[in-house]
Amino acid sequence: MAATFVLACCAAGAAAAERAVIGHSVQGRPILATLNGDPGAPLQVLVFGSIHGNETAGMRVTRQLLARPAPPNAALRIVPTLNPDGVAANTRGNAHGVDLNRNFPYDWAPLTGGEYSGPHGLSEPESRAAHRLIRATDPDITIWFHQPFGIVDRSSGGDHRLERRFAQLIGLPYVRLKGRYPGSASRWQNHAFPQSTAFVVELPTFVSGALIRRATRAVLRLAAEYASPELGAGTPAAPR
Ligand SMILES: [Zn+2]
Repeated sequence: MAATFVLACCAAGAAAAERAVIGHSVQGRPILATLNGDPGAPLQVLVFGSIHGNETAGMRVTRQLLARPAPPNAALRIVPTLNPDGVAANTRGNAHGVDLNRNFPYDWAPLTGGEYSGPHGLSEPESRAAHRLIRATDPDITIWFHQPFGIVDRSSGGDHRLERRFAQLIGLPYVRLKGRYPGSASRWQNHAFPQSTAFVVELPTFVSGALIRRATRAVLRLAAEYASPELGAGTPAAPR
């Protein structure tokens, strides 16, 4: 991976965190990923606070995650946003108007309008940055935050027991959104890496501070349980 790792913290006693620039947006903004925990830990978790620039509540969760140590035996990679240009402009798509969550290479289809999927899969630098990061780090669990439906989406191809546990921890219904979206990031991951689980968490439109804290605790608790199965959920992490 071409990313440059720099040591981004540490106050005395704080856990070491490594922040890397994993790519740049169309307009040249850096896309950042911070590693909390040991990169060789048995459980690798990846969290995207936003991919749609007008759905930013998940970034409040990633901000809290950045301040917490990873649980034992787990490493968290935290990407506050894959779409910094969209966040800056408050648009769903990137600066080319591409819906990045329709720009991944599995089951890509030419879509127009609000879900414009770009000229081809991985046409956008932001999607390519996520693609590189995921291929390089092979996460066991990937969580993609969206809005506004207020549910945890049952994936096709992920571990439904794990997803259901997350829904229980965060306190949102576990349901399947209608439709399977061509070129979506999580579908590509679940297809390309069948031993891993990638799923979508749809926060509601209006998100209280309490829900942000619950979401943060849910990510850390899920990671703790799957990194150390005796803690609760009981399902060991998939063999790597
Ligand atoms: Zn979304």
